[in-house]
Amino acid sequence: MGGKCPHRSVKKRRYSHKTFRRGKFLVKGDDAVYDELQKLGGDSKSLPVDEDLPGMGQYYCLHCDRYFANATVRDEHFKTKRHRKRLKQLIDAPHTQLHADLAAGMGMPDNGPKLMAM
Ligand SMILES: [Zn+2]
Repeated sequence: MGGKCPHRSVKKRRYSHKTFRRGKFLVKGDDAVYDELQKLGGDSKSLPVDEDLPGMGQYYCLHCDRYFANATVRDEHFKTKRHRKRLKQLIDAPHTQLHADLAAGMGMPDNGPKLMAM
C-alpha cells in the first residue's frame, strides 16, 4: 500500500530554502573547480583577504566554492556528506562535452595520420 506514512508528522523537507539549493546556481561548475584545483596544486595558503567574505575569506573550501567564518566551521563542513560527494566528483577529471560526444560516437574524427603536410 502506498500513501503517506501515518507517523510522519513533519512534512518532508523540499529544499525550498535558498541555502539548500545553493548547488543549483552558486557553485561553480565541476570543470571550473577542477581547473582551479590543478592550478593551485593543493596549495591553499595563498587566499586573498576579503572583508566581504565570512572569515575574511581565509577559510575556503575549494571543492564546494564556499567560504566559512572560521576553521571549526570549515572542518565541520569537510565532514559533511555534501562535501564528500563533491570531493568524489572532483577526483576524476570533469565530464566534458567531449566525453559526451565520444560516448555518443561523435568524437573527434579519426581520419588517420595526415598524409600531406599543410
Ligand atoms: Zn567542501
